[in-house]
Formats: sequence, structure tokens, C-alpha cells
Amino acid sequence: MLELLTQERWALLTAALVFGALIGSFLNVVIYRFPVMMQRAWEDELSFAQDKEPAERDRFNLVTPRSRCGQCGHMITAMENIPIVSWLALRGKCSACGTRISGRYPLVELATALLFLACAWTFGATLQTAAAMLFCAVLVALTGIDVDTQLLPDQLTLPLLWIGLLLNIFGLFARLPDAVIGAAAGYLTLWSVYWLFKLITGREGMGYGDFKLLGALGSWFGWQALPMLLLMSSVVGAVVGIAILVVQKKGRNTAIAFGPYLAIAGLITLFFGEQIQAVFLGQ
Ligand SMILES: [Zn+2]
Repeated sequence: MLELLTQERWALLTAALVFGALIGSFLNVVIYRFPVMMQRAWEDELSFAQDKEPAERDRFNLVTPRSRCGQCGHMITAMENIPIVSWLALRGKCSACGTRISGRYPLVELATALLFLACAWTFGATLQTAAAMLFCAVLVALTGIDVDTQLLPDQLTLPLLWIGLLLNIFGLFARLPDAVIGAAAGYLTLWSVYWLFKLITGREGMGYGDFKLLGALGSWFGWQALPMLLLMSSVVGAVVGIAILVVQKKGRNTAIAFGPYLAIAGLITLFFGEQIQAVFLGQ
């Protein structure tokens, strides 16, 4: 099996695609449940601080309870849980009550599958591919959670930072000194922007999660990638932000999550970072 994956390119690419779809299915669960778990943990802590008994609740984590239709409670069967395929076969509807199932589920699965394919395509049968897949999975989860809740949980951004540093002990994506400086400089850059913006306008332009995410990206790709990451995320953010303002006609004070744009910039850097830097630095 392992031999097939290392010697036959098509086998590696197919395996990456299928594995990506399965992980994408799990990321849907993470995106939906993780914010709820954080909220509950926070409420429990609050009642503990006030010497109250935490509220009695059914177990709720990434594995229990099994997924159900939000409308009628129909338990999702194994056949209805096949990534992308099941949603298409059910035409995006619950098999019991016909309620529409969000198109975001197959979209997250498809995006993760294609990202994993791109990892295998770019890095081949190497440790880099495994690391790159982990990187993509965490960024997909962070993007979904940030879009829904405007939060980038520490439980995801901080491990991403540590893993980047640990992998670069072996120089997987950057030299270790560059990665360490990248982590600190990434955090400090957005921290400074935040305080400057707050001093000038009195408002908060972004959250602490954004500093940690840029720090994490710096730990993966080294400080040299930071200007490119900031430039790309600002451009993508400005374009999408303006489009959203025009379409939804919301006020200019509407908070817009910055995390997804950082994540997109991180993914572009993963796959094309060296080429882009070569063009800009004329190397
Ligand atoms: Zn239903």
C-alpha cells in the first residue's frame, strides 16, 4: 500500500482527494460544534466562579451526539454521510422531512479535497505533504469558525504556531531562526496596527485572534513571507469587503472577519510562496 503511494503518482493523488473529502466532512463538524463547545465551557467557568452548579447538559463534543437533521431530528445514516456524494444524491435535502441542507457542507468537503490534492501534487510523497495537509485543515476550520462567529479560537491558532516552529526544526518550510522571528514579528505587526487604529479612531479594527494567526503563518513560512501575507490578505479583504458592503448595503461599521483573508493568503503562500518571492525579489 505504502509502496503504491510512493511510486504511483495517480494513487497518491487519488488517495489525497478521498482523504481530503473525509477530513472536510470532519471539519464541518468542527466548524459547527467547536464554537458551541467553547460557549458551554465559558458558561461552566462562569458558574464555577460564582459558586453555582454548572447547568446539567447532555454530552456535546466532536463525536457525540451523532449528527441529526436540525429540523426533524432524523439521524444521519452512514449512507447519507458520504462527503459531497450524499449531498448531491439527496439533492441537498433531508431524506426524512425534505428540509434544505446547507450547500456549505459539500463546499467545505470539496475545498478540503482539492487542497489536499494540491498538497500531494506540490510536495509528492513526502513529510511536507502530511504537514501541508494539516496546515490546510486547520485553516479551513478557522475560516469557517471566523465567518460564523468572528472568532479565531486559541485552541486552533496556538497549536498551528507551535507545530510550524516544531516542523521547522527540520527546516520543512523555513529555516528555524526565520520561523521564530516570523512568529514574533507576525504577532507584533498586527498588534501594532490594532493599537494604532484604536488610538486614532477609538475603535477596534480586528481581534487578537488575527495577531495569533499571522504569528502562526510567520512560524510556518518565516519572517520573509510576512509582507507578502499582509499584502495579499489586505487586497483580498478589501475586494471582498467592498463587494459585501455593496451587496448587503450594511454600514461601514459592520465588523468584517479578517481571519479568512489571512487564511487564503496563507494557502497561496503554501503553494506559490517561493515563486511569488522569486518574482518580487528578482531571484
Ligand atoms: Zn429532517
